Amino acid sequence: MSFTLHGLGVSPGIAIGTSHLVSHATLEVSHYVIPAKHIDEELNRFDAAIGAVREELRSIKYAAGLGAPSEIRALIDVHAMILADPMIASVPRQMVRERRCNAEWALVQQMEQLVEQFEEIEDPYLRERKADVVQVVERLLKAMSGRSGQSVPRRKPEDGVVVVAHDLSPADTIHFRQQQITGFVTDLGGATSHTAIVARSLNIPAVVGLYHVRQLVRDEEMVIIDGTRGVVIVDPDERILEEYRLRKSELELERSKLKRLRSAKSATLDGEEISLQANIELPEDVAQVKDVDADGIGLFRTEFLFLNRDAMPDEDEQFEAYRSVAVALKGKPVTIRILDVGADKALSGTVRNEPNPALGLRAIRYCLAEPQMFLTQLRAILRASHYGRVRVLIPMLVHAYEIDQSLMMIRLAQEQLSAEGVPFDKNIAVGGMIEVPAAALCLGAFLKRLNFLSVGTNDLIQYTLAIDRTDEAVAHLYDPLHPSVLRLIAQTIEAGSRAGVPVAVCGEMAGDPSHTRLLLGMGLRQFSMHPMQIFEVKQEVLRSDVSDLRPKVARLLRIEDPEKQRETLERLNA
Ligand code: PEP
Ligand code: MG
Repeated sequence: MSFTLHGLGVSPGIAIGTSHLVSHATLEVSHYVIPAKHIDEELNRFDAAIGAVREELRSIKYAAGLGAPSEIRALIDVHAMILADPMIASVPRQMVRERRCNAEWALVQQMEQLVEQFEEIEDPYLRERKADVVQVVERLLKAMSGRSGQSVPRRKPEDGVVVVAHDLSPADTIHFRQQQITGFVTDLGGATSHTAIVARSLNIPAVVGLYHVRQLVRDEEMVIIDGTRGVVIVDPDERILEEYRLRKSELELERSKLKRLRSAKSATLDGEEISLQANIELPEDVAQVKDVDADGIGLFRTEFLFLNRDAMPDEDEQFEAYRSVAVALKGKPVTIRILDVGADKALSGTVRNEPNPALGLRAIRYCLAEPQMFLTQLRAILRASHYGRVRVLIPMLVHAYEIDQSLMMIRLAQEQLSAEGVPFDKNIAVGGMIEVPAAALCLGAFLKRLNFLSVGTNDLIQYTLAIDRTDEAVAHLYDPLHPSVLRLIAQTIEAGSRAGVPVAVCGEMAGDPSHTRLLLGMGLRQFSMHPMQIFEVKQEVLRSDVSDLRPKVARLLRIEDPEKQRETLERLNA
C-alpha cells in the first residue's frame, strides 16, 4: 500500500530505491533455555560474533580510509573499545553459563543494565555514550543472527538502496558510502545532527525526524526520498515513480550543467561582484573547496578538530591543521572560527550538567572561561597566518567586553609569539559572528572594534524564535523567513555597509538558492556555504540584478503577513 511521510529534509535531491531496514535488533531478541550439553557451543557462537564484529569495525575503519573525518575514525575506535570491554565481552558469557540462557538474551540484559548506569551519569557527553553501547550490541546481535553489520540487500542493478533506520551513527553513514547507498531516512535526528552533516557532505539525499518510519516500512519495498522537501513516498504507484524518475534525471542534468559555472566570474547582471566562499569542518574538506573553486573559506568550524576525543589537540596539532588549509587556499581568505563548543557540540568530559546548554557556557563564553585553551588556539591560528590569508572569527558575541577580552587575548598571543621570534601576520583581520539578536540590535560596539562580521543565521533563527535547532519536535517553527529574522539580517548588512565593515552570511541561509535574491537585495556581497551548494547559488547570482532587487526587498521586509510575504518572495525568485 502506498503512503507518504513528512520529515526534515536534511540533504537535498531525490533518491529512488528498495528499502533496506537497519534492524533495531535489540527489540527482536527471543529468550530460550540452552541445554547443559550445548553451553560451550553457545559460548563459541558468542565468541565468534565478537570476533566478527571486531573484524567488521576494522574493515569499516580501513574502508573509510584517511579521507574520513577524524571524528568518525575516533568513533569507530570507541566502538572497538566497548567491544573489548569485559562488560560486553565477558559478563554475558558468565550469564549464559549460570542461567543457561541464549547468548543474545544475556547480551541484551547486560546492555540494559549498562544503559541504566549510563543514564545516571551527570556528564551529558558520557551519558550519550550509551548510544554507542547499544550500537555495538546491535552489531553483535546481527552477527549472531548470521546477518552482517549493514549489508546491502539483493536488488536489481538499476535500483538504488534506501536505508531505513531508527537512528544512524556517523560510522554507519560513512560505511554506506562504500555500499553505494542512494539515500536514507531515520526516525530520529535534527538538521544539525552528525548524520545530517555527513549526508550532506556525501551528497546523499536524506530525510530525518520521521518518528515511526522504521516500523512502517518493510524490507525491499520501493521508496522515494525527496530530501529537498522532506518527503518520503513508500510503495509508490507507477505514475508517481515515473514522475520522480524524470525529476531525478532532470536534477542530475541540472547539476552536471552547473559544473560549467566553475570558471564563471561570480557577478550579478549589473556587475556587482559577489564572493562565494565555503564552510568546512576539517582540513580534508579543502578538496571539495578546490573542486568548486570557492573564493575562500568563510567559516572553518574548528570544534570538529576537538570532538570525540579524550585529549584536546595541542598547539602544534592545531597549527598543522590550520596551516595546511591556509597553504592549500593559496592567498584566498581562510576564516578560522574560534572553538564553538557547548550546546549540541560537547567536549569530551568537560561540560557541566547545564539546565539549558544552548543558553549556557558555549562558544566565546566557554573560551573566555578557559583562557589557557583559548590562548593555545589563538597562538596556533596566528602561527598559521604566516602561511596564507588567515582571519579570526569569534562566535556568539553579545557584549562589548567579550570583544575587548577576546582582542586582549589576541594581543597577548601576539606578544608571546613576537617575544619567541615566531612569525605571524601582524595585520590579521578579526571578525565577530552575529548570531544572537542582542548583537544584531546593538551593532555599534561590533562595528567599532572588529574588521568584519559574519551572520550565523542558524543560531540567529534559533535565538530569535526561541526554537532549539536540534529538536525535531519544534522544527516546523524554525522559520528563516520570519520577518523578525529578516529584519535583523538586513539591518546588520545595512549597518556594516554604512560603517565600511564587510558583512558575510555563513549560516545555512547563505547556501539556499531560494534565499539568494533576498540576501542580494538586502545588500549582501559575501556568502559562505557548504561547497556543494556554491554552483546553485552562483547560478542565482548570475541571473540577478541588484539594482532591481533592492527596492523590492525593501518592500518585502515591511510585510508581516506570512502569505503575502511568501507570494512576494515567489515573485522575487520567479
Ligand atoms: C550559524 O549559527 O549560523 C553558524 C554558521 O554556526 P554553527 O551552525 O556552527 O552554529
Ligand atoms: Mg552558530
